[in-house]
Amino acid sequence: MQALLLEDSLILRLRDFDDPVAGPGEVVVDVAVAGIGGSEYLGYRNPGLRPLPNIMGHGIAGVAPDGGRVAVNPLRGCGACAFCWRGQAQLCDSWSLIGVQSPGGFAQKLSVPEDSLVALPDSITWEQASFIEPFANAVNAWDLAQADPSAAIAVLGAGSLGLGVVASASAAGCKIIQVSDNSAPRLAAAATLGAEAISKQMADTYDIVFDTVGSAESRQAAAALTAKGGRCIFMGFATPTSEIDFAELIRGQKQFIGAFVYSATQFERAIALAGKTQSSWVQNLSFTDVEPLLKRYLKNDFSTLKGALRPNGHQ
Ligand SMILES: [Zn+2]
Repeated sequence: MQALLLEDSLILRLRDFDDPVAGPGEVVVDVAVAGIGGSEYLGYRNPGLRPLPNIMGHGIAGVAPDGGRVAVNPLRGCGACAFCWRGQAQLCDSWSLIGVQSPGGFAQKLSVPEDSLVALPDSITWEQASFIEPFANAVNAWDLAQADPSAAIAVLGAGSLGLGVVASASAAGCKIIQVSDNSAPRLAAAATLGAEAISKQMADTYDIVFDTVGSAESRQAAAALTAKGGRCIFMGFATPTSEIDFAELIRGQKQFIGAFVYSATQFERAIALAGKTQSSWVQNLSFTDVEPLLKRYLKNDFSTLKGALRPNGHQ
């Protein structure tokens, strides 16, 4: 089989491999689609948690050995700690993601634990399946926000995470959903999902603010845009540390909440959410299209909103 191998920072090569063999409790999945998002272009620049060489791609859907269409829930925990028992594997001390710490979907096939497979309904397309994983992150963030439909919602960043938050807010019946981003195509996609696009600096305050970017600037903006008594949900990873005005937080009784990946049930809810969301913002790609896309993302060119690697040409 062929797979894209991240050999070092900014070095991604198409390589030939023997087909993977299923270990105990595993199955080999034919990859129909692997979504390309922030984790991949940040990983391409700085492999970070990824042991090198690494096959990236953790937003994976494909065909199981029995012919069934499946999504792969990439989140793994130890299965034995209190967090895992509560269904919060992301808080497990030994959490990992298929496609980050172990080989992922930038390949024609991969072997995964059988219990990571979630059956897909016939109605969902492979393009929609490419954004189940980021939408699962959004479902978790949405749950943590505890927003009611009358809340004014701001979303910073209209990549897959931001669009997932918009889709969640729209599905919950929220009427005030504003999204900011520097990219006109991303804003246009957010508008099709029910948000009002704001290309300039946001000036108002909002009951709930989602920062899907995670830069120093976006975090400070998100904190300032949060109304007194409101909640600010941090999802982005662009930089690890940044300064926050804690006096504002304290006097405004603002709640700051970190949101990281999802539970198994939130992943399943994301399948339903993705299946209801139009996918014209997804572009199908071949192996050789991936590195040029990652390079464009690193130059802040988001004219391709969501790349979907299609390594086997499944219809
Ligand atoms: Zn655990």
